Amino acid sequence: MTQLPLDVPTDLFIGGEWRAASGGDRIDVTDPADDSLLARIADATAEDATAALDAAVAAKQEWAETAPRTRSDLLRATFEAVMDSADELALLMTLEMGKPLAESKAEVTYGAEFLRWFSEEAARVGGRHGVRPEGGADMVVRPYPVGPCLLITPWNFPLAMATRKLGPALAAGCTVVIKPATLTPLTTLAVVAMMERAGLPAGVVNVLTSSSASKVSKPLMADPRLRKVSFTGSTEVGRILLEQAAPKVLRTSMELGGNAPFLVFDDADLDTTVTAAMQAKFRNVGQACTAANRFLVQRGIAEELTARLKDAVDELVVGRGTDEGVTIGPLVDDDTVAKCVELTEDAVSRGAKVLCGGEAVDGPGHFMQPTLLSDVPPDARICAEEVFGPVLPITVFDTEEEAIAMANDTEFGLTSYLCTSDMVRARRVTDALEVGMVGINIGVLSNAAAPFGGVKQSGLGREGGVEGIAEYQALRYTLTPL
Ligand code: ADP
Repeated sequence: MTQLPLDVPTDLFIGGEWRAASGGDRIDVTDPADDSLLARIADATAEDATAALDAAVAAKQEWAETAPRTRSDLLRATFEAVMDSADELALLMTLEMGKPLAESKAEVTYGAEFLRWFSEEAARVGGRHGVRPEGGADMVVRPYPVGPCLLITPWNFPLAMATRKLGPALAAGCTVVIKPATLTPLTTLAVVAMMERAGLPAGVVNVLTSSSASKVSKPLMADPRLRKVSFTGSTEVGRILLEQAAPKVLRTSMELGGNAPFLVFDDADLDTTVTAAMQAKFRNVGQACTAANRFLVQRGIAEELTARLKDAVDELVVGRGTDEGVTIGPLVDDDTVAKCVELTEDAVSRGAKVLCGGEAVDGPGHFMQPTLLSDVPPDARICAEEVFGPVLPITVFDTEEEAIAMANDTEFGLTSYLCTSDMVRARRVTDALEVGMVGINIGVLSNAAAPFGGVKQSGLGREGGVEGIAEYQALRYTLTPL
């Protein structure tokens, strides 16, 4: 078994204790670069799930009544602990998820920031006070914690997806059961162990790892004591969870799939555009719901931009995320590679040209060649489906109206990118895009201080910013005659 860079518990964390799963089963966690074994973690049963919720319910009142400053201090201490172990956590993430080490380091900084940001927000939970417009009465609106939450996270950002939910939930005064992705549970286990060392009271955070997400989530979704589910993952699973949430009218936050268009207008600065495009497409080896999925390029700049992108893609280095200079690590599994190949072949069958890559890489691990496709027709599957890998398809457009229509022609509405030197155009196009987030002349826009989230089938609710904590609060309004 590979030696891990830091101590990672491999049991379930329930009611302040690390314990094996009740059925005694274990799941292998492997390195996607070579399938070597990293750890054997507990495989929770439905019974364990209920025990985790029991613990969250038992701790609920005390945590809700804890002084905001105390909650803030816990998050701040966890932020410090994460940053103190930044190198070790980054390596752990690269081992379990595959991304290049430099990107894992960037994720530690980004992910830790949710702990710091919400440690600051925790102490600023406000409320509202006013006089009834008709007079003669005081109106007071106070937020309070919504109650025990189920947090379900994906594998692509093992640290940030956990802290983006744990930070606001704990800041608001909620207790939680967190279920990290089966493929990448180690980072969450390591961070919760840091929280424990920072003084986390028993039952406030409970961790379930399981070979079957639905086996543990379904009984909890049906339990009236659960008050909220926050999920990040595919739209497909989001729909299932929304159905499961309906009978109990459960509060939901859903960060689902994306199909981000990357629009480039003739007046764009080429250097800026290439930098932004490479980041928006190849960060995290293309495995991000915010990743640029479709490049829509105006005819006048298309030839030159395509040539520049070809040079940039040719410079990418495929390899183990831990190796020096590697910019494209493995994809998380063979299915993700197969989807990249399938969508590339579909585009080619409809007339697209392969300028770089186009194929899976042989050998151990799950690698895809960085791929550049030109002349991709808008009816290619890659323009409608999330590719989740290092494939960059270029489609040419003529007019702004055409570009906007193509950009909005999707069930998703998470992110869009646009490159132009004309800020009036940027404003006009931004207003016409049906998305929750827009990067203008930039390829990465996530930030703990901003509300992350989408419209249409990309989800419900926002994470981060001053808005993020509200997802974990209910409001109580009181009226007092004077
Ligand atoms: P991704 O594309 O990120 O793999 P998924 O939606 O498959 O997205 O998975 C995201 C998270 O949701 C993971 O933690 C996974 O284990 C969990 N998950 C998958 N299927 C279900 C389900 N039916 N019910 C609850 N959680 C699920």
